[in-house]
Amino acid sequence: MDHFLYRDGALYAEDVPISEIAAAVGTPFYVYSTATLLRHFKLFDEALEGTDHLVCYAMKAASNQAILKTLAQAGAGMDVVSQGEYLRAKAAGVPGEKIVFSGVGKTAEEIRVALTGGIRQFNVESEPEMEVINAVALELGMVAPITIRVNPDVDAKTHAKIATGKSENKFGIPISRAKEVYALAASLPGLEVVGIDCHIGSQLTDLEPFRLAYEKVAELTETLRAEGHNIRRLDLGGGLGIPYERSNEAPPLPVEYGQLIKDTLGHLGCEIEIEPGRLIAGNAGLMISKVIYVKSGEGRDFLIVDGAMNDLIRPAMYEAHHDIVPVNEPAPGTESQPYDIVGPVCETGDTFAKQRSMAPLAAGDLIAFRSAGAYGAVMASEYNSRPLIPEVLVHGDQFAVIRQRPAFDEMINRDTIPEWL
Ligand SMILES: *Cc1c(COP(=O)(O)O)cnc(C)c1O
Repeated sequence: MDHFLYRDGALYAEDVPISEIAAAVGTPFYVYSTATLLRHFKLFDEALEGTDHLVCYAMKAASNQAILKTLAQAGAGMDVVSQGEYLRAKAAGVPGEKIVFSGVGKTAEEIRVALTGGIRQFNVESEPEMEVINAVALELGMVAPITIRVNPDVDAKTHAKIATGKSENKFGIPISRAKEVYALAASLPGLEVVGIDCHIGSQLTDLEPFRLAYEKVAELTETLRAEGHNIRRLDLGGGLGIPYERSNEAPPLPVEYGQLIKDTLGHLGCEIEIEPGRLIAGNAGLMISKVIYVKSGEGRDFLIVDGAMNDLIRPAMYEAHHDIVPVNEPAPGTESQPYDIVGPVCETGDTFAKQRSMAPLAAGDLIAFRSAGAYGAVMASEYNSRPLIPEVLVHGDQFAVIRQRPAFDEMINRDTIPEWL
């Protein structure tokens, strides 16, 4: 459920009409709902009630400072995958002890910054990385808390570009080698092993892959404990999917996911961490765009809109579906017609939807791309020299621009001319 609903024929973000925001900031733009962000965070938090746990928002989904601060004030920890994300989390007021550091390629510099600034744990993805964390910790006279990310070799049954838990993926160490890698970790004086980490992919719409993976994690916990390792924390990753196509998708609910965690791992007495990103931010954001032209092609009509693949790359990158709705609700009984909805970028891939059934639209009309809050603004680029679009946060009847649209000059003046020119 989200807080983007029609009232008297106009689409609202909480208590603010979308058209009012569009008039103030221009199109295209992203708009997020505070109430929806908080609701999704609380669904996870409550799903793990009764278990010692921390919900670490995977901020790569949407990392605007205002979004991070909203979640941090509600008690969320953060899952970060780069120095930039670590510094963003700290800048938003997240204490180091609530930040977990994931990612396959942490550099010595990133490790140093996190160790000095405070970190809950590093989720280690390889033996060479483990050696570097050990070396940096020793150099600083510190001990680095770590989990090791195991790859359970389960098929997450999701898009190939976001499946991470098969043996052919670059992530983690094979679960079959866990014993020897944990033994190596225990022998390194700069490391303290605190638990196990596992993240099998994103946009999972079925609980079964999670069950298979968590059963393997449970078994591994017992094995490692028998070897003398103090496994007290399990980081279970993120990945729970959202309904991008509301008319025919109903992924599992956080409460069902929480129950599965309790069923498969509850008996171990471990502290549980989860790292949801998409489910917290995805349906908490829209991208609003304006129709520039309606172009009649051979046998099809194109809606050419001012948002493009550089603003929202998911359809081009993952063949992803986004529900697209008009900001002014069509009158009941209005007949729909099929449109190809495309952006102005010079790529055929700049196509948001083909033959999408919509009530008739005209130049100047506003449309909303639903489920654009996660992996939207963060994946944007300036391709075709289109400046990054603004982000807006709504809170009840208030809204604020949380990232300004840069002026063209700001974009151009980031380039520098060598003196020989
Ligand atoms: C991307 C990622 C997540 C978040 O995945 P969602 O599908 O957005 O919930 C969590 N943990 C790790 C390690 C990730 O790489």
